[in-house]
Amino acid sequence: MSHAPLAPLGSHALIPKAELHLHIEGTLEPELAFELAARNGITLPYADTEALRTAYLFADLQSFLDLYYALMAVLITEDDFEALADAYLARAAAQGVRHAEIFFDPQAHTARGVALGTVVEGLSRALARSQERHGVTTKLIMCFLRDQSAESAMETLEAAKPYLDRIVGVGLDSAEVGNPASKFREVYEAAGELGLRKVAHAGEEGDPGYVWEALDVLGVERVDHGLRSLEDPELVARLVRDRIPLTLCPMSNVRLRTIDVLEDHPLVAMMDAGLVCTVNSDDPAYFGGYAGDNFHAVGEALALDHERLRELARNSFVASFLDGSAEEEELRARYLAEVEAYAFDAATD
Ligand SMILES: [Zn+2]
Repeated sequence: MSHAPLAPLGSHALIPKAELHLHIEGTLEPELAFELAARNGITLPYADTEALRTAYLFADLQSFLDLYYALMAVLITEDDFEALADAYLARAAAQGVRHAEIFFDPQAHTARGVALGTVVEGLSRALARSQERHGVTTKLIMCFLRDQSAESAMETLEAAKPYLDRIVGVGLDSAEVGNPASKFREVYEAAGELGLRKVAHAGEEGDPGYVWEALDVLGVERVDHGLRSLEDPELVARLVRDRIPLTLCPMSNVRLRTIDVLEDHPLVAMMDAGLVCTVNSDDPAYFGGYAGDNFHAVGEALALDHERLRELARNSFVASFLDGSAEEEELRARYLAEVEAYAFDAATD
């Protein structure tokens, strides 16, 4: 079972937090996959949700990606994307997430004939109701697939122009090694001219050179993962000096074998080095846990005390893009005050 029932989350896991590294396609749980497949007349090559859950015990990155892209076939209509996002937001809320900056992969959908407008309109419907329904504020970040061409990324950016009122920024994801950031220099320049914020996956599997490129060639404000940054002291100095946040995803690192066990995770060394670290869930349906589960897992494995957990929560709001207006600054200040006022419950931790 990929999702052996997780321990009930204690107060250390439920501290108010922002989730900044979350692929909405990676939140598709087996139950919803079957529901959407039935709705759309699609037959999944699995007998039932348990068989599909077993398939989520993928052996490596490639088998994960194969399953990930195969299951996207059930996402066709605006309603499907709305259901996907709404299910995530309900789960996130139950794990202490107060604000979510959500990635989506337009090219994974347009390549199979689903229009970008369908994706954005569907996701937006769920996001627009999220604060009222789940108490979670949201932003949407459009990611380019780095194993696709720069031309395809540029076409995607062009196609997104009618929807930029609902998209705060651009990101870069999928297979890192062999697909350096420099390939996307022009796309990121064009995105910047459109007023979009910039993030990119870098230093997950790739060496620190990938992080340097994300900073110097793409001009990112946040690095997604950046796990291998510690290998380069000059890079650490740069990230610390410029207060560039890293969106770490500990359970993802273990499931994708980037590290063997959580006890080996460099989070504490990274925090001690002065890096602005945050803890996120990446593709939670596939990697065994949502944001609170990740807080729980690293909290246990690395014996993080309450002050470390509070620092991670504080960093998540500081690193968020809640700075686009006076109202957003006010909201961020309120979230930060919630973090400072949060009382851990000694009985459950
Ligand atoms: Zn990711």
